[in-house]
Amino acid sequence: MDLRNLIKDAGVIGAGGAGFPTHAKLTSKAEYVLLNGAECEPLLRVDQQLMELFPDEIIRGLSAVGKYIEARKAIIGIKGKHKKVIAILRKRIAALGLSNYVEVMELRDVYPAGDEQVLVYELTKRIVPEASIPLKVGCVVINSETALNIFHAMAGNPVTNTYITIAGDIPRRMTVKVPVGVPVRDVIRQCGVENFDNYAVIDGGPMMGSVRNNVDGYVTKKSKGYVLLKKDHFLIRKKSMSIAQARVISRAACGQCRMCTDLCPRYLLGHNIQPHKVMRALSYNLGDVKEQQIAQLCCECNICELFSCPVNLHPRSVNVLFKQKLAEQGIKYQPAEIEFKARSAREYRLIPSKRLIAKIGLSAFDKPAPMTEVEFRSETVHIALQQHIGAPAVPVVTVGEQVKAGQLIGKIPDNSLGAAVHSSVNGTVKEITDNFIVIKVGSYE
Ligand code: SF4
Ligand code: SF4
Repeated sequence: MDLRNLIKDAGVIGAGGAGFPTHAKLTSKAEYVLLNGAECEPLLRVDQQLMELFPDEIIRGLSAVGKYIEARKAIIGIKGKHKKVIAILRKRIAALGLSNYVEVMELRDVYPAGDEQVLVYELTKRIVPEASIPLKVGCVVINSETALNIFHAMAGNPVTNTYITIAGDIPRRMTVKVPVGVPVRDVIRQCGVENFDNYAVIDGGPMMGSVRNNVDGYVTKKSKGYVLLKKDHFLIRKKSMSIAQARVISRAACGQCRMCTDLCPRYLLGHNIQPHKVMRALSYNLGDVKEQQIAQLCCECNICELFSCPVNLHPRSVNVLFKQKLAEQGIKYQPAEIEFKARSAREYRLIPSKRLIAKIGLSAFDKPAPMTEVEFRSETVHIALQQHIGAPAVPVVTVGEQVKAGQLIGKIPDNSLGAAVHSSVNGTVKEITDNFIVIKVGSYE
């Protein structure tokens, strides 16, 4: 079967980010296929371990995509500090006879090295235009876990598991393979904390992840990390602030020093994002919609809010606020230019990961989270119908039906962007709601 259809049938989505359906990236030809192995979020340890444990699978998944889109080169972007993994990858590329096609390029240990547009620039020196996608400059980007899932899809195996790092102020840090749909509570229980009353959980990385209101909820294909910190930790306090509070403080205290803009990774790529101007529009109630529109160029990396601002304000949150307002009014940023050049100061303004980690109070927890085998014995799994960008999947099973692990249970609606979902366990469909297919774990006879 055609690779794109295999990927589509297997329900592969971007494992590291917003969950864009991968098959939809394979509709055009491109010059490069890039593997995003930067894993720049502090404390997360998934991609670096997958590349070490499954190099052949990841290399094969990546090169299959490259050949399909007729890319002339496949490049693996990984931080230079992962020397052992780099050596393994280079050895396996040679052993697989792919040295003329797949190359490993070493990235600096800066944040956000894994931002898609930063990665494209670092690996190809091309700049994705404002409000555009890598394809515009001849690149398709996939993440390491996505490449692994593509390899499995080529053998007809759908996505039923994801890899998650459990990290933070906890006794046992680890990375685990988890069936999709397992309760989050069952995953974080592995960390050795008995009483969660004093803890808060960040879903995702410490920079871009958000604080969960509770530990209810279920693992999805794009779950990547749970970072547990005490409730009084700086990050939890800062991330828990409501947008209304952030707005009041930001309005009162912004001195227009423009540090948020000067260190913004998208600004440094030559884009017109200038968060200090968005702060100005907020402070002075400026109705200048044009100035607010630049908020749409923000990738929400959080550098401005957690690192740059000397008085601890919330430019990212204000960007998000303006983005919402503009979306409500149907206003879309229209780029004035199509060619961009990185700003000359960029080289001196990259943020070393170690400094960032120290600034956000995580140095004490910046430790290995080794891959650990854990058997999850949850009674039920909740498979979300929408784990991806696009339309929710449409159930193709009924209550009471027996299903087996890997069986299709939700299909892409006709003529829509979406992703199929599959059962991650053997069992019986217990309930179907607007959001989930609930499966009671059992046997399949
Ligand atoms: S860094 Fe802080 S104080 Fe300076 S302009 Fe940006 S938001 Fe205002
Ligand atoms: S979050 Fe801040 S630093 Fe990051 S892209 Fe947006 S404005 Fe720039």
